[in-house]
Amino acid sequence: MSDPAPAAADADRQTAETVDDEPAVPDIDLPSDAFDAVLDALGDLDPNDRLRFEGFAVGRDPDAEDIEDAAAYVLEPGGDDPRTGLSERDLHAALEERAPQVTDWYAFERVVGEFGPRRAFLRWIEDADGATVATRYAALAEGIERAWGQLRVIATVTDRGERRYEVRHVDDAGVTREELAAHDDPLDAREIVKLDEKGRYRPLKTAPTLRRGWVFPELSPRDAYELVETVYPATVANWHREREGELDVNHWRETMARQSGIYGVIRTWDRGEGHEHVNWVAEACCDDSQCLKRREWEYDDGTDLDVDGGDGVFPCREPCSVVVSAARKWTRLESEQPRTYEFELTPSEKEQLEAIVDAVADGRIDEIREADTKEGANRYRARFLRAKLFDEEGNLGGVPTDPTDPDDPTDPDDGE
Ligand code: SF4
Repeated sequence: MSDPAPAAADADRQTAETVDDEPAVPDIDLPSDAFDAVLDALGDLDPNDRLRFEGFAVGRDPDAEDIEDAAAYVLEPGGDDPRTGLSERDLHAALEERAPQVTDWYAFERVVGEFGPRRAFLRWIEDADGATVATRYAALAEGIERAWGQLRVIATVTDRGERRYEVRHVDDAGVTREELAAHDDPLDAREIVKLDEKGRYRPLKTAPTLRRGWVFPELSPRDAYELVETVYPATVANWHREREGELDVNHWRETMARQSGIYGVIRTWDRGEGHEHVNWVAEACCDDSQCLKRREWEYDDGTDLDVDGGDGVFPCREPCSVVVSAARKWTRLESEQPRTYEFELTPSEKEQLEAIVDAVADGRIDEIREADTKEGANRYRARFLRAKLFDEEGNLGGVPTDPTDPDDPTDPDDGE
């Protein structure tokens, strides 16, 4: 037989390489827990019902006397004739050959359990509602990576078909495990989420300020879910509601109308004068740079805000307590009447004030080097401006905030 033509040989080689490159489905043993769970499920099953796995089903043989009968089971391989009169040993052998499908059933039906956010989330991680068991097990053998906010979740499978999850900060993706502080109790995350990298309290758990340097190397499915819930409370539940078409969104107006006590003042901010002020709130607080949730609430049911809601995986269904608290402050500040002040600024000084506001708003102050005096928000430049333009009371340009009472300037913090 002659050699194949070079082009055909290349094509053959490419095909072989493509196949070789595809991740292989790992060998899976059928653990006794999974087999016992199948027997339990069959014991509860009506003889006419079937326990379904991907590609086949098993059930109780209707001809058997009862579940203790030596030939009590039936196997219905997809597309082939059913095998009836199977003993427990026969059934075990048949399921052992189909261990990936059986362990997949066991992982979600018995280990993860009831329908709801946890199950939906863990299935989403490995695309269990879209990909076949073989595809998923092959991918799990390599590790399936998902991001949830600033969490990087890697799902793997053991040789018994059990799921394991490694969770760390997304920015620690390239760091070896040995360089990270390892934890196994998901509740340890309560300490991790408290403070940011600089030791400052994090009032908003979905702010992109999660600190780095830790890893949960091998979590069970339930612990992985608990960890995610600890780091980002209620995010999975709201994501799940949204997928089910059941996310109940409370818009700005209805949320503010509900405020009472010290927050009741916010109701006075909406006076039928448009919703520009709420655009400013959303731009200040809910932008992706400040919060990882995707804002789904608007001004009211019929009026969308003009600013983008963001691209986060998980939705935000109503203005949070951080926004409500800030809005209370803005309600008071925005109730003040504008005044005209006269200062003399050089063009560069005006631009410098703008640069300072920008740098503070974008959290860039720490990035501006002391030697970089080209930056308006450079510390030396800011100190120079203060030395030049502020009087002893701290008034810009020597102009009192309240010109009618120069000894007692209006305190913009109004004592809070
Ligand atoms: S209201 Fe805004 S800041 Fe608060 S959680 Fe929702 S998106 Fe984030």
